[in-house]
Amino acid sequence: MFIDFARITVKAGQGGSGCCSFRREKYVPKGGPDGGDGGNGGSIILVADRNVSTLIDFKYKPVFKAKRGQHGMGSAKHGKSAPDLEIRVPVGTLVKLAGTEEILHDLMHDGEQYIVARGGRGGRGNARFVTPTNQSPRDWEVGRAGEEFTIELELKLIADVGLVGFPNAGKSTLLSRISKARPKIADYPFTTLEPNLGIVHYRDYQSFVVADIPGLIEGSHEGRGLGLKFLRHIERTRVLAFLIESTDEDPGKTFRTLYSELSAFSRILVQKPYLILISKTDLAEPDPGSLNLSSNAEVVLFSSATGKNIDGVIDALYRLLQTVSADAPA
Ligand code: GDP
Ligand code: MG
Repeated sequence: MFIDFARITVKAGQGGSGCCSFRREKYVPKGGPDGGDGGNGGSIILVADRNVSTLIDFKYKPVFKAKRGQHGMGSAKHGKSAPDLEIRVPVGTLVKLAGTEEILHDLMHDGEQYIVARGGRGGRGNARFVTPTNQSPRDWEVGRAGEEFTIELELKLIADVGLVGFPNAGKSTLLSRISKARPKIADYPFTTLEPNLGIVHYRDYQSFVVADIPGLIEGSHEGRGLGLKFLRHIERTRVLAFLIESTDEDPGKTFRTLYSELSAFSRILVQKPYLILISKTDLAEPDPGSLNLSSNAEVVLFSSATGKNIDGVIDALYRLLQTVSADAPA
């Protein structure tokens, strides 16, 4: 299962307390204050790591705590600061404050770091409270508490091609045809509740990733039906392929509905290059000119059932990908 959401609690370490101590040495009757400072608590740092691909591990470990700083000691010895705790997350992870839509950070690049909870500062020891009028202070500070938050991690899928279509259009079947992915296929809307990824091999050396996005339904941009949770997956694909059934009574209307759903969700989405795939041509073989799609995009007809023109689909997707540079913001 592809888990793309996790809620975790991060607790940075408390600072160590300052020490209250006085020098005690032979032949020194009245030693001055020598309490050292406490060390800082460890911070919690999120690190984007391209070797991590899902948020699944966070399901089993929802709380992360960094260590506290060491307390200050006598003889002016400062406590050691605690090490920071690094949490590795997939590249593309969005960090939100739990229960809000406030985005704290978007970890976009491999190696990028974000300090999500700062460790508390260590408290000062009494040696630091000496003033001209008070040579033997007994003041010292408690270390500050580390920050603590509950955050939500959200992973936006990164794929080259996003398959977009209403439930039952034939997306999952196509994906299983062109890649080794084996998504659930059924004659039942909403079979695909998680996005599926498939790697398509093209002419031996090239490959690209296709994501089968769960069925889009009208009003999903408002959170109805499968809603936003699924729409956000396609935000990070490079190109889109709209799938429409050959038996659709009004393919033009279906296309425009899909398109306006997407544009209502995000303007970025509809700026992506796209093509239109007409599926299930074993059931009906419409004349592309009569589809009334009112779009300049390439239209490719195919059938997963018979395998007819599956290669044509792969070729067309590959050609479309060539029109966007590999490092275009996905
Ligand atoms: P999705 O909801 O878009 O992922 O659609 P699915 O891939 O799950 O397919 C929905 C239904 O259409 C299933 O019953 C498939 O067997 C059927 N189907 C998919 N592709 C074809 C095709 O090329 N021809 C025919 N006749 N049926 C197909
Ligand atoms: Mg499906």
